[in-house]
Order: sequence, then structure tokens, then C-alpha cells
Amino acid sequence: MEDCIFCKIVAGEIPCFKVYEDERVLAFEDINPISEGHTLIMPKKHARNLWEIPEKDLTAIHLASQKVGNAIREALDPAGIAVLQLNGRGVNQVVMHYHLHLMPRASDHPELPVTCWEIKEGDMEAIKKTAEKIAEALE
Ligand code: AMP
Ligand code: ZN
Repeated sequence: MEDCIFCKIVAGEIPCFKVYEDERVLAFEDINPISEGHTLIMPKKHARNLWEIPEKDLTAIHLASQKVGNAIREALDPAGIAVLQLNGRGVNQVVMHYHLHLMPRASDHPELPVTCWEIKEGDMEAIKKTAEKIAEALE
């Protein structure tokens, strides 16, 4: 993909702080980290989002997330690691090349904003209807 910054990283045209690579996947440090060890995992082959990524690449990324997650745990001993993946401008996906964020949080650091939303009890009838709608779309 011509103007894709992550494809340029895969091609070696832009540098990155690589932590892991295999046939399908590249993992590297986010240069605007939310926390120490904020790592991105992406497919080497361009796909914009969850709707486009081929199954094999999706699988490879999730298997890599376990490997890299283990390494982050060993290297940094975080209190926890949040995993986040954004699809579409409407949820602030900025780089339109599929990627998974691994965001560790050190025990002496404040909460990560992405992990602390307000819990409010839902409307069970509305939830039921939505579940039915989604399940129907899966048929
Ligand atoms: P998003 O598309 O919102 O899920 O996030 C894109 C992420 O890519 C942001 O956290 C950026 O800091 C990160 N990013 C953008 N350009 C680079 C780059 N050249 N190297 C590493 N991370 C990058
Ligand atoms: Zn790309």
C-alpha cells in the first residue's frame, strides 16, 4: 500500500524499534507510548481492519500477542497488559493498517485511560434486542 506508514516500516523504508518478527507478523514499539513497553503487532501484508484481515494473519497476530505479551511480562514485570485494536476513524483508528496494541501498566503508574470506563447498569431489554440483532446477522 503506497502511502501506508506501517507498510513502509515492513519494507524497511521507515525505521522501527522491532521486538519480534515472523513470516506474517512484525511487532515494534509505539513511538508515542501510553506507557513503557507499549508495543504494536501488525500483519506484514496490508489489511485495513478486522473486516479485511485474512484469517491466517489474524491468527498469527494473536499467537504473536501471546509470545510478545510473555516477553513484556518477563522484561518489565507490569501490573497488567491491556490489549486494544481499533477499527475505523469513528473509534480513532489513525493508522489504517491493522494493528494490535499491547499496553503494559507498571504498578506505580496511574490507570491507563483505555481501561477505566464508568460501569453503568444497562437496559436488559435493549441489550437482549441488540444481542438478537447481532446473532441474526451471524446466521
Ligand atoms: P491507532 O491507529 O489509533 O490504533 O494508533 C496508531 C498508533 O501508531 C499510535 O499509537 C501511534 O503512536 C503509532 N505510530 C504511528 N506512527 C508510528 C511509527 N512510525 N512507529 C511506531 N508507532 C507509530
Ligand atoms: Zn499498510
